[in-house]
Amino acid sequence: MDARIRLLDLSYSQLTELFAQWAEPAFRAQQLWTWLYRDLATNFAQMTNLPQALRTRLANEAVIDLIQPIVELTSADGYTQKFLFRLRDRQTVETVLMGYHRRRTVCISTQVGCAMDCPFCATGQAGFARNMTSGEIVSQVLFAARRLRVRQGPAHTPGSPSERGITNVVFMGMGEPFVNYQPTWQAVEKLTDPRGFGLGARHVTISTVGIIPGIEKFAQEHLQVNLAVSLHAPNDELRNRLVPINRRFPLGQLMDACRQYQRLTHRRITFEYALMSGVNDAVEHALELAQLLRGLTAHVNLIPLNPTAGSPLRPTTRAQVRAFREALERQGIPATVRIGRGLDINAGCGQLREVNAGAPEALLPGAFL
Ligand code: SAH
Repeated sequence: MDARIRLLDLSYSQLTELFAQWAEPAFRAQQLWTWLYRDLATNFAQMTNLPQALRTRLANEAVIDLIQPIVELTSADGYTQKFLFRLRDRQTVETVLMGYHRRRTVCISTQVGCAMDCPFCATGQAGFARNMTSGEIVSQVLFAARRLRVRQGPAHTPGSPSERGITNVVFMGMGEPFVNYQPTWQAVEKLTDPRGFGLGARHVTISTVGIIPGIEKFAQEHLQVNLAVSLHAPNDELRNRLVPINRRFPLGQLMDACRQYQRLTHRRITFEYALMSGVNDAVEHALELAQLLRGLTAHVNLIPLNPTAGSPLRPTTRAQVRAFREALERQGIPATVRIGRGLDINAGCGQLREVNAGAPEALLPGAFL
């Protein structure tokens, strides 16, 4: 077994401890951290301000875990890129890089597969394999940042180019972040650390299926990270079917947790609602949803369902999406419709992996950059 230290799995304080054990001065830990997260270094030879002896020791005893894409696709409009990565144990996860509105947003996975079993979701249909480590989670972002060929770091970093790299990170890929809480939160701390990647906490969003203990813990965190909750139904009867974990964390308790979160953080919550034809998209559902959200500072993100091979559910028509949104807005609930981005490259949750299950080693066709 490879016993080398996986550097991207370490927090800043763990790295400092390691260097203390190695009898290296503390500022060396900061130098290495900056190489990893700001300069996006991929090997120790690049780290020219570290003494040669330390670089050699790192090369022998540690490793920078680089994830390699086995499939890369670019949407026809060129604004969305999707990657299927193979991890060390040959498991695969998906990452999406989107560039629009002067933002470069990367959508990352937190688990290999998902155990939440939502019937409309391709990841859920494929089942759960394992949690990802915090290093695996951040390495998706580092990979995407390298693609942009710009150094990272806070905007005010001396010498940093005016052009920014990754501007936003959303935890909306495969898996449920709040059932892999610790590695997910460690990834957030690394990405927002001003000594390294330097992302503003407000530019990070975590999406949860509604794991109440996770929301409660998240409400206590010191960073102002955004929360999105995947609702998809306005009552327990319907939500039990569409989001089965609702049986354990029913809507009444979920809304109480959201209200408590808002009391503590004063932050707006985004509620995601995938519109499925004839299932949850009637105007009555919109009215029920407005009732449910009353008293919260909420924003509803309406997503016309991305159809999947494993489910007969179909997206709502444009006209009905509009009727639904207008009904919400008449009730004073702001709502936007998320445009289907990268539909031509299976950019919906879990869909690229589904198509490439059992894919050969070689890269599959697609547009490569
Ligand atoms: N487990 C987390 C994050 C993963 S998915 C969560 O549930 O929030 C990010 C969003 O995409 C969720 O709102 C999820 O319900 C939604 N989603 C999954 N499959 C979809 C599909 N086929 N069409 C539209 N939205 C989908």
